[in-house]
Amino acid sequence: MAWADKYRTMGVRTNADTPSDAKKARELGAEGIGLCRTEHMFFEGNRIDAFREMICSDTVEEREAALDKILPYQQGDFEQLFEAMEGNPVTIRFLDPPLHEFVPQTEEDIKKLADAQGKSVETIKAIIESLKEFNPMMGHRGCRLAVTYPEIAKMQTRAVMEAAIEVKQEKGYDIVPEIMIPLVGEKKELAYVKEVVVQTAEKVKAYYESDIQYKVGTMIEIPRAALLADEIAEEAEFFSFGTNDLTQMTFGFSRDDAAKFLGEYYDKKIFESDPFARIDEEGVGQLVDMACKKGRQTRPDIKLGICGEHGGDPSSVEFCHKIGLSYVSCSPFRVPIARLAAAQAAI
Ligand code: PEP
Ligand code: MG
Repeated sequence: MAWADKYRTMGVRTNADTPSDAKKARELGAEGIGLCRTEHMFFEGNRIDAFREMICSDTVEEREAALDKILPYQQGDFEQLFEAMEGNPVTIRFLDPPLHEFVPQTEEDIKKLADAQGKSVETIKAIIESLKEFNPMMGHRGCRLAVTYPEIAKMQTRAVMEAAIEVKQEKGYDIVPEIMIPLVGEKKELAYVKEVVVQTAEKVKAYYESDIQYKVGTMIEIPRAALLADEIAEEAEFFSFGTNDLTQMTFGFSRDDAAKFLGEYYDKKIFESDPFARIDEEGVGQLVDMACKKGRQTRPDIKLGICGEHGGDPSSVEFCHKIGLSYVSCSPFRVPIARLAAAQAAI
């Protein structure tokens, strides 16, 4: 592995949402976190209760009160991630999935939520019903959540910044948090959310009299974002390619359902491999390559990474090297494979 590290030119980060995953990945040689999916932090213990209160709020005030309960958990988790990464970069992706994934399912949980919010069971059920979508993966998710509920992005920004300032002061690491806005397809929606992030971050910095730096970037995971990457780079300080969604939206295959028919595609020699595992260089890869070029036109030193599943697949890692990505990010146990593949690609 030392030889691999000597020859590779691309960085290798990890996708990690918990301090234990982050530590494991660090032991396996990860040089930072390329993707922390913050929604994964909400399932544990009584966090989900506060999160459900946030989802089932009727007013901004109610939502802010629920978010205030979530803030300390989120901040604590970020502190542990920053500590585990010892000053290496940490990219924190703001809330992404459709909210209905979090709503209570059982009568007991619905009643519990109704009682906590002083609402009737019927009201909660009506809210849950209203969150149902025909096509949730193309629905109210990603940055669309922050556009409709900017208070969520405010809370997450506060949690990131306060955690970073705290750990920087305590441990002396030079932390530059990277805030990543998901599912952007239009420069103006990124600009809107970025404004919320920057205003909040600057307030936190002023309060703590801190000069900490931070970056705001985006995932490129919608074909439109790849096509307009030069415009999007005017707002984004970095790109991370979300090739799971980008593959889904480029092929028009649902990532949750494609396995049901892809077997036939292999048997009939239409596909050689799973495009969700090994990047489709001709199509999806073309979009990634083009977005890199367009991004660099606007911002020559833009940092470019990948955090879809492909970031841990050796042949996709080779492709990432060829098009000049700065790093790949993959699950902790694939970090050594990515390090080796990056070195082989460089040689
Ligand atoms: C992606 O879409 O590639 C990605 C990394 O985000 P998620 O899998 O969480 O949608
Ligand atoms: Mg995605």
